[in-house]
Amino acid sequence: MNSTISMIRQIDALLPQTQCGLCGHRDGCLPYAQAIAEGEAANKCIPGGQPVADALAKLLDRGALKAEESVWPIQADGRPQRMKAVIREDECIGCTKCISACPVDAIIGSGKLMHTVLTDLCTGCELCIPPCPVDCIDLIEDVQPLPTEDLRIQEQNDLRRRYYAHIQREETRRMYRKGPVVRAEIDSELFARFSQQTDAVPAIEVKQKDISVQNTVSAQTTIELAKIRTQIKKLEKQLSVREDAQKQTQLIELNRQLQALQESSK
Ligand code: SF4
Ligand code: SF4
Ligand code: SF4
Repeated sequence: MNSTISMIRQIDALLPQTQCGLCGHRDGCLPYAQAIAEGEAANKCIPGGQPVADALAKLLDRGALKAEESVWPIQADGRPQRMKAVIREDECIGCTKCISACPVDAIIGSGKLMHTVLTDLCTGCELCIPPCPVDCIDLIEDVQPLPTEDLRIQEQNDLRRRYYAHIQREETRRMYRKGPVVRAEIDSELFARFSQQTDAVPAIEVKQKDISVQNTVSAQTTIELAKIRTQIKKLEKQLSVREDAQKQTQLIELNRQLQALQESSK
């Protein structure tokens, strides 16, 4: 079993971590890595293109296969063109559906307020586009220079960590969710098993629904939630007038705190 885990990890390390599901594995790169280790063809990662198909063939000592084609043209590094999502903010109705759909938490915004894509974090996976009820998300070409190999690995590691953090949050929310699920529910157990084998990603704990959980929110928590919401509103207002990297970081941190507090108070 350990040798299988080690092989899945080596395969996963070569996958782009876009978590787009275009390989046919809706839950992202890790389930595809597992399927490859079990014998599935290793040429299905569309964002990875030919370089990833070739690297996998080499790792697995299998014959080279032609990578499945992307709809985007091929870049100088042999991979399909990198894309980014952009929200037409004046058309956004603040429904928040795109936030739940984004596997790497690259969208910020609160209910009924304009939403924004954090361009540096967006992988162009397109998962936020179908849930948007007013179709106000566009994909544009990423015009940044192509990353070096080292930068690409760093980027992949960061995306993997962000996805595991996203899964853990969704796992917690799953127990309390009343509205419709925007994205198909993720099979968290596989990720939980792998997260326990490595320090490189946040550990995932699979939650069991506990109907005895009390939904009482203490007065202190209510005050704290109100304070954070006020700070978020203030920052969002300031940022809508002028960009400011430090305030943007504060905003992300406050949204994280808000989410954590909401979840712990459920
Ligand atoms: S990046 Fe590649 S391996 Fe990962 S989910 Fe997308 S197509 Fe599948
Ligand atoms: S913002 Fe949209 S396209 Fe970008 S990573 Fe998130 S879901 Fe994918
Ligand atoms: S899904 Fe569309 S309308 Fe809803 S918050 Fe996202 S961008 Fe705005």
